[in-house]
Amino acid sequence: SLVRGEDGRMSHLVGVFSDLSGRKAAEQRLLESNAELEQFAYVASHDLREPLRMVASYLGMIERKLGPAVTPDLKEYLGYAVDGARRMDALILDLLEYSRVGRGAPHTRRFALAEVIARASGNLKVAIEESGAELFVAGGDLIAEADGEDCLRVLQNLIANAIKYCPPDRQPGISISCRSEGEMIAVSVADNGIGIPDSQFDRIFRMFQRLHGRQEYGGGTGIGLAICKKSVERMGGTLRVASTVGMGSTFTFTLPAAAAV
Ligand code: ADP
Repeated sequence: SLVRGEDGRMSHLVGVFSDLSGRKAAEQRLLESNAELEQFAYVASHDLREPLRMVASYLGMIERKLGPAVTPDLKEYLGYAVDGARRMDALILDLLEYSRVGRGAPHTRRFALAEVIARASGNLKVAIEESGAELFVAGGDLIAEADGEDCLRVLQNLIANAIKYCPPDRQPGISISCRSEGEMIAVSVADNGIGIPDSQFDRIFRMFQRLHGRQEYGGGTGIGLAICKKSVERMGGTLRVASTVGMGSTFTFTLPAAAAV
């Protein structure tokens, strides 16, 4: 800031410099140490949901009680508050989900990919219909031997993102293809959406990392892909992305193929 003398002319210049490298390094360590985050997520998510539900339901009650006395600005403020509570609830649910992956033994079974793809698209029926998304499936007859719920969770997250990260003036086109890769099956979910720059490929799989605006592309938490990565690695597979900005992205994960009987 400028300091002026009595004559109004600048006499000093005061500048404050803070070295943020220590804090940045600590944040980075926390992001990379999933174990600590997991522990935190598990404890916090249980305790946070209950009071949050109370806040949301009392806000609704206040609005109902006020009835016609709710002025337009009051309605707007209540709307922001409810929206904030909803976003926080989504975040807590995702944290809970993240910490749940990998707890307990995996429920390994044989299943055809087509079965899990059908369940994933059934669960996303509303989002698919509202967006007008078209889904193409190839190679669904391949049989995997893995945790079907983990696989469902991954597919659902990837399809939901393919719908969400599509420009508003474009109809989402999603193509899911399964193919054999030695002892594994590779499942790709390709979209025609906004795409991801190469430099961000690693970042998007880390917790709380979002590239695109919440306003434009819906309220995400930045945890979905971290959940996918953890689920896929638990099945002994890998998750990767290839993308061209403005053209679309392809997320590919692998999971163990069933041995021939
Ligand atoms: P979010 O809850 O924000 O969707 P994710 O972990 O699922 O969190 O994704 C992290 C970020 O990666 C998103 O915020 C978005 O910027 C980017 N992303 C994920 N999937 C896609 C996709 N199919 N196309 C373009 N960007 C994507």
